[in-house]
Amino acid sequence: MSDSNTIVGKKVDTSSLVDEKGKNLKQIVCERCASKILPAKVGTLEEFNFELNIMKKESETDSDLTKEQLSQFYRVEDMFDFDNIGFSHTVGDIKYLICADCEIGPVGWHSISSKKCYVALTRVAYK
Ligand SMILES: [Zn+2]
Repeated sequence: MSDSNTIVGKKVDTSSLVDEKGKNLKQIVCERCASKILPAKVGTLEEFNFELNIMKKESETDSDLTKEQLSQFYRVEDMFDFDNIGFSHTVGDIKYLICADCEIGPVGWHSISSKKCYVALTRVAYK
């Protein structure tokens, strides 16, 4: 166990966000700067629990170690499927994903071993 605080994130109603196969119906954009992140129909909804640091800008200090337990993600098979994505630091097998324009994040993570990316539903917006 880590000594950081963990808060449990909200779940969102996905009925209008994904199709019957779990693919995202809408263009996904950054919730802060509206930069395009992922085209429609590229991510697949998966539900499981995962802890991510709370959102902040990459340039801000790392003084706040609060984590959020998130449970809904879009799985992206290939990092080249993104419109735009930035990578932050690596921790073990994961690299954190951040907005390529405003550097807010993490909006999700990339698994180095599986090569898959996961984008948290509650950390992005739609167009
Ligand atoms: Zn942004």
